[in-house]
Amino acid sequence: MASIFSKIVAGEIPAYKVAENDEFLAFLDINPMAMGHTLVIPKQEIPYIFEVDDDLLGRLMVFAKRVAKAVEASVTCARIGVGVVGLEVPHCHIHLIPLQNSVGEMNFGGPKLSPSQEELAAMAQKIQSNFK
Ligand code: 5GP
Repeated sequence: MASIFSKIVAGEIPAYKVAENDEFLAFLDINPMAMGHTLVIPKQEIPYIFEVDDDLLGRLMVFAKRVAKAVEASVTCARIGVGVVGLEVPHCHIHLIPLQNSVGEMNFGGPKLSPSQEELAAMAQKIQSNFK
């Protein structure tokens, strides 16, 4: 069965997309740890990041770097934290999380924000406009 992220790639379920090319897609996490929390995926459904072919993994990281710069330009933050978990969705993804000042802000088991559709749409539009 296709992963939920493959369904986003196929346009079968909606997502707030922020950047895309032939190989990769970046979209807002639906339950962000911070506003601007973005997921970067290869469009090809590969369950686990360390199963990704070396060349594709390199290009994925370079794409994630460009997305991180766009997130950084869109929200006030000190750093973009980078994380990989993958326990919930078995489709390789990199979390990009704007951080203010504490490592505790990257708490994957902690409380999440519940932004409105309007807030997510505005954030996605801002990141899109800063993507180079
Ligand atoms: P992980 O697999 O890294 O443990 O977590 C998966 C992440 O994907 C979570 O942060 C969760 O909020 C996010 N997520 C799960 N389902 C969806 C979805 O349908 N749309 C979006 N945009 N994010 C999702």
